[in-house]
Amino acid sequence: MITANIQKINQEIGVRARLIAVSKTKPLEMVLEAYQGGQRIFGENKVQELVQKYDALPKDIEWHLIGHLQSNKVKYIAPFVHMIHGVDSLKLLQTINKEGAKNKRKINCLLQIFIAQEETKYGLNQSELFDLLDAIREEPLPHIQICGLMGMASNVSDEKQIRHEFKELKNLFSLVQAQYFAENPAFKEISMGMSGDYPIAIEEGATLVRVGSLIFGER
Ligand SMILES: *Cc1c(COP(=O)(O)O)cnc(C)c1O
Repeated sequence: MITANIQKINQEIGVRARLIAVSKTKPLEMVLEAYQGGQRIFGENKVQELVQKYDALPKDIEWHLIGHLQSNKVKYIAPFVHMIHGVDSLKLLQTINKEGAKNKRKINCLLQIFIAQEETKYGLNQSELFDLLDAIREEPLPHIQICGLMGMASNVSDEKQIRHEFKELKNLFSLVQAQYFAENPAFKEISMGMSGDYPIAIEEGATLVRVGSLIFGER
């Protein structure tokens, strides 16, 4: 079932984006089943669960931390994490940089942007984003690679609203790319779209989609 679900989604997204299989709360056996079906990119939203799965599973898995990250937990994932999606403060970025240095690696990060109507979601607004980018232009963080932006649309059924929010993220991405990363090809990712809205996200320019329940079942 799991492998068939992944194949179906991959057929739909084609070469336009890469699929992150979001395995949070799901047991190792289910992740392994997806792995044996060929999936190599997985996402988790809690540090402890991510570390446990990393330890137990094949080492060629590319692990993405997609949830909110507290500074005091960065050290647990810094040795192996492939990309951190939810970066929304300079302080967190500085901590990741420090842990990257300790591990002699550059850690891929996405800046999380607040695009939803809802008040509960994490993320930077536009002016906070530009303040952060100005700050790291002044004082570069050599163990960070900023690879793009991440966002979550409102949890609503109104397709027009969701599409509008994804368009906003894409426009912001293009602006930031032109103003801050014109000479940096590593800035290329737009992480948006989940089980309920990934087809819209793809149409609006997502390069990474984060799909959980459609692959592994409801949580
Ligand atoms: C859980 C989660 C997802 C996947 O959600 P589904 O609706 O199960 O596809 C995507 N992104 C983030 C940040 C999540 O926490």
